[in-house]
Amino acid sequence: MVKTMNEEWKPNSELIVWAKEHLSQIGIDGLWSPDGSGVQYRKVTDDTFALMFTYNHPSAIDHHQRFSLLMEAAGYNVIEGDDVQVVTPPLDASAAQEEEYRRKQEIASGWQCECGYPLANNILEDREDKFVGTEEVLLSTGDTAEIEVWSCEITCVSCDKKIDMNPDDFHLLAGDDIFMQWKCEDELFVALNRGQMKDLADAGVEDGVVLGSEVKGHKVPPWLWGCYTMPFSLEEIKKSEEE
Ligand SMILES: [Zn+2]
Repeated sequence: MVKTMNEEWKPNSELIVWAKEHLSQIGIDGLWSPDGSGVQYRKVTDDTFALMFTYNHPSAIDHHQRFSLLMEAAGYNVIEGDDVQVVTPPLDASAAQEEEYRRKQEIASGWQCECGYPLANNILEDREDKFVGTEEVLLSTGDTAEIEVWSCEITCVSCDKKIDMNPDDFHLLAGDDIFMQWKCEDELFVALNRGQMKDLADAGVEDGVVLGSEVKGHKVPPWLWGCYTMPFSLEEIKKSEEE
């Protein structure tokens, strides 16, 4: 890899404190990929990060030099394996977004509970959606609007700890199919995609429900508002699993 020395830039003490805290929370084999940087590292031992991936682009090379200085200042070694993936960045914006999403999913697959158990190995179907409260947010127009804050709670299979996740993080971890379903009393509402809706319509099935903001007096998570869903009885799902 081409290296141009960037000797002027030095991390300040605030950044070093942040890096120490942030990098220490990443488990071994966990990935660090700052948004939009075009580089990705893997924590290979307690005190070493290895460059895994970089865009073949001057700004990515510059980022790598700065991150290396920062990691070293925070007490980590930075190594470059022989198998570093050097990739030409996609020119098309939606392809670049897809790439970024795929890389984030890879990071999510490395998240761990405090006990070290991988979050991805828990029973993600059993998550509970919890309404936390409302929050005023500033819109780009200068007006404010109230939004609902929710969390997705999963239970660690290994240590029984309840883990509250930001819904976007849970979505990354669990994928669309699991994220787009919701338990309410004795029913499971499963959101359908267009292909599924078409197949059911062709088959004459009309039991679907469009979710509003409430069902049977329970608040519906906002990511399911307006979705066409199929309700399933939890008892029957359980029975069919036991068979
Ligand atoms: Zn745990």
